Amino acid sequence: MRNSIWTALLALAVLFALVWLKLLLTGGAPEAQPAPVQTPDASSGGTRLRVLVDGEVRDMALEDYVVGVTAAEMPADFLPEALRAQAVAARTYALYCARGGKHADADVCTDPGCCQAWLDEAALRERWGEDFDARHEKIAAAAEATAGERLCYEGQAVFAAFHSSSAGFTEDCGAIWSELPYLKSVFSPETAERVPNYVTFVARSALDFRDTLLYARPTAELSGPPETWLGETERDESGRTAFVVLGGERFSGTELRGLFSLRSTAFTLTYEDGEFVFTVTGFGHGVGMSQYGAEVMAEAGADYREILAHYYPGTELVKEFGE
Ligand SMILES: [Zn+2]
Repeated sequence: MRNSIWTALLALAVLFALVWLKLLLTGGAPEAQPAPVQTPDASSGGTRLRVLVDGEVRDMALEDYVVGVTAAEMPADFLPEALRAQAVAARTYALYCARGGKHADADVCTDPGCCQAWLDEAALRERWGEDFDARHEKIAAAAEATAGERLCYEGQAVFAAFHSSSAGFTEDCGAIWSELPYLKSVFSPETAERVPNYVTFVARSALDFRDTLLYARPTAELSGPPETWLGETERDESGRTAFVVLGGERFSGTELRGLFSLRSTAFTLTYEDGEFVFTVTGFGHGVGMSQYGAEVMAEAGADYREILAHYYPGTELVKEFGE
């Protein structure tokens, strides 16, 4: 018994000696290492975002950014469930851009042709005038109701493309960009009754039409009479124009959309009385969620989860933060 007490005391003495020696060698009590500074940016699924606005990078809360995008991209008089679907798409799209490293020093920009549109409070006050408070509150509520929610495929935020309106069916992503399993052509319920300027016309004189085509494709054979220029049209599975043969050259629907400033590639092209006429349905590239389709689904009683599941099939709605 006495031996074991002595052994314990000796062990304690050795322990104290070792601690003393360590303090002596390290020059005092070991300092706590400062915790690494956590800057949860959007590229790692966090809550801050670096937004390129007019050439200047602004750091802002992801949720404030989502309000600015939803306000800029969707009419504020749309139903709350459509606005909620838009808020989730906007948040998801920003997180997708942030991960992709599209911009060197920013996660996302405010150019709708590159990333997605975004407006700050001053711009929204100017746009909405005396309706600012009510509209801003409505859109902020849509962002808040979905705070932190993003659409994921295999655990990653998806390329949540969206557009204004489709012509019966949305476009398959592979028809414009590369194939993605969750961006397939699906039915979209909006019609001319609900969508302003659903069908538009672009008319060009034969001369102007020819000059525009030759500018893009000098090899097109357009020297004969105009009624002989228009060849076969190929449509994709969504019904949009994939290709049109003009003057023996194959023009893609997207190319013609750009050349003649058409609102979409859902068009037919005819020639009559010296004029070429594009009859165009819907607005936008047609991929992903149709905003007017979302509104019509909301009118029919769908909630934002159903709208998103319809337009982005196979994705999972994941909530990373928020109440
Ligand atoms: Zn951009």
